[in-house]
Amino acid sequence: MKCTSCGSEIPDGVKFCPACGASQPEAPAAAPVAPPAQPQYSYQAPAAAPAPVVAKPKTTGMIVFSIVNMLCCGGLFGLIALIFSILAGSAATFEDGRQKLKVAKILNIIGVVLGVVMWIVIIAIYGVVIFTAIRTGNWSNTSGY
Ligand SMILES: [Zn+2]
Repeated sequence: MKCTSCGSEIPDGVKFCPACGASQPEAPAAAPVAPPAQPQYSYQAPAAAPAPVVAKPKTTGMIVFSIVNMLCCGGLFGLIALIFSILAGSAATFEDGRQKLKVAKILNIIGVVLGVVMWIVIIAIYGVVIFTAIRTGNWSNTSGY
């Protein structure tokens, strides 16, 4: 508030102006409490919900995983996983998409495990064949003829 005598800006509620010493009138009563808001009886539409954006789980990673799985690990599991990953991207609900991604992930894991086992077996068989050939000098088994 301002001093009634000299016009200096003075703190609210002081009895004397710190600048000129003039006594100040009683501090004005506290601002009247705003009446409680009238309840509104008219129907109010609930705050417009944001457009229902169906959140999609991220599928890119799983699609890549599926393709890699398909190319390196025998194919079938990766192919099915790829289909599920793509379906997950267009699922009606997030939960649905998540479930499909989960299936894709499990298929990919199975595919990768089987693929790794397959490669180990292939390498082991060829390793034995080649090792035997080196040791015996007999390469006929490696050519298939
Ligand atoms: Zn004053």
